[in-house]
Amino acid sequence: MNSLSSIEESAISINASKVISRLQDHGFQAYLVGGCIRDLLLRKTPKDFDIATDAHPEEVRELFRNSRIIGKRFRIVHVRFGREIIEVTTFRGPHADEYDENHSDSGMTLNDNVYGTFEEDVFRRDFTMNAIYYEPQEKEIIDLADGTADIESQIIRTIGDPTGRLREDPVRMLRAIRFQAKLEFGLESDLQSSIRSLGYLIQDVPPARLFEEVLKLFLSGYGTAAFDAMMENDIYGWLFPDSKRSMENNATEELVRLALTSTDQRIAKKMPVTPAFIYAAVLWYPFVDEKQRLEQEDGITYAAAHEAANNVISKQQLFTSIPKRFSGPMRDIWFLQSRLPSRFGQKPDRIMEHKRFRAAYDFLLLREQAGEKTEQLGEWWTEYQEATEERKLAMKQSTSNGRPRKRKRKPRRKASTSDHASLH
Ligand code: ATP
Ligand code: MG
Repeated sequence: MNSLSSIEESAISINASKVISRLQDHGFQAYLVGGCIRDLLLRKTPKDFDIATDAHPEEVRELFRNSRIIGKRFRIVHVRFGREIIEVTTFRGPHADEYDENHSDSGMTLNDNVYGTFEEDVFRRDFTMNAIYYEPQEKEIIDLADGTADIESQIIRTIGDPTGRLREDPVRMLRAIRFQAKLEFGLESDLQSSIRSLGYLIQDVPPARLFEEVLKLFLSGYGTAAFDAMMENDIYGWLFPDSKRSMENNATEELVRLALTSTDQRIAKKMPVTPAFIYAAVLWYPFVDEKQRLEQEDGITYAAAHEAANNVISKQQLFTSIPKRFSGPMRDIWFLQSRLPSRFGQKPDRIMEHKRFRAAYDFLLLREQAGEKTEQLGEWWTEYQEATEERKLAMKQSTSNGRPRKRKRKPRRKASTSDHASLH
C-alpha cells in the first residue's frame, strides 16, 4: 500500500489513543491531527501527538485528572502521562470580523478562542499538510484541504491566501521555514514571496513567543538548514537585527553556521545542547564591536565587557526574549574568551575549573574556524587539557603566554619645577 494513504497504527501513541477513546465515550468528536499525522504519513516519528475535539477546554479538563488548561491567546489542554504530554485543542472557527477587537491593526489575531465546527477547524490551520485528520476507531483519514497531495509533491502551502494567513499570525512564516528545513520540502511560490515581503510583521509578535520558535528552529536537529532557509527568505534580520547587520563586516555568518552545525551533530549523537551557545555565536561580533566602541569612548575600562554584554543582550530582548538561565551562561562564554589567552602561573588550571570552561573552549575553536586570528590559542588549550603535569609546566613557560607585559618605567623626572617655571 502507498505509505501516503495509510497510517502505521502501532506508531500511534497509546496515550493519545486513550484520550481519543475517553472523549468519544463521553459523546465528543476527537481526531488526531497536525504534525503527528503528517509525520506518520511520511513514515517519520512524530514529535508529539495533537488532538482536535469539539469538547471545550473546561470539558476536556474535567475528563482528565492530569490535565491543565494553558495559553491565553489560544487556550488548549495539556493531558500529562508521565513524560508525555498530549495536546488537546478545541475546534476553532473563523472570526466574524478581522478588524474587530480580536485583531491588531496589521490584521494579527490577538484572541483566537472562537470555537467552531470540524470543517471550520480544518481551514484555520496553517498549512495543508498540517490539516489532515485521523480517526483511529474507524481508521479513517479525513483530508479536506488536500494535504496528502502536497505532502506527495513535497510542497508547503498555506490554507487560503498566504498574505492574509501570514498577517493573521506572522509566526506562520517561521513555521513554514522550520518545516522547509525539517522535511526538506519547498515553499509554494506565493507563500515564499509573501514571506519575503512580510518579514517585518515578525516585529509585532511578543518576544517570548519568538524565543520559543527560535528554540524550535535552532535546537531540533536541523538548525543549519533552518538558518539557511531564514537567510534565503530574508527572515533572519527580523529576529536578530544586530547579528544580521554585523554580517557585513564580520564573520558572523560563518560563526553562526559553525555553532549550528556543531549543535546539529550533538543532537544527532544525543548529546546535551543549549541555546546559550548558539546565542553566544549569534551576538558575538555585535558584542565585540560594542565593547570596542565603549573602550574607545571611555578609555579602557574593566567594565566595558559587562556594559557591552548588557547593551547587546537587552537590545536583542526587544526581539526575542532570552531567559536569565541562558543569558548568564552566554555572558560566561563571552567573558571567558578574554581570559583564555592568559596562560601563566595558576591561571590555566583555574580557568579550567570554571563550569563554562568547556563551552568557552569549544567557542574559541569555532572563532578560529570562522577565521579569527588567535595565534594557535585553541591548539594550545587542546594540548594543555591532555598534558602531563611536566608538560603543562613546560607549556606555561614556553612563551609569554598572555603575561601582562611589564611596563617599562619611564625614568622618573626629578622635579616638575621646570614645567611650572615655564608657565610663569
Ligand atoms: P511539530 O512536528 O513541530 O510538532 P506541528 O505541525 O505538529 O509540528 P504544533 O505546534 O505541534 O506543530 O501544532 C499542531 C498543529 O496545530 C499544526 O499541525 C497545525 O495544524 C496547527 N497549528 C499550530 N500552530 C498554528 C498556527 N500558528 N496557525 C495555524 N495553525 C497552527
Ligand atoms: Mg505537533
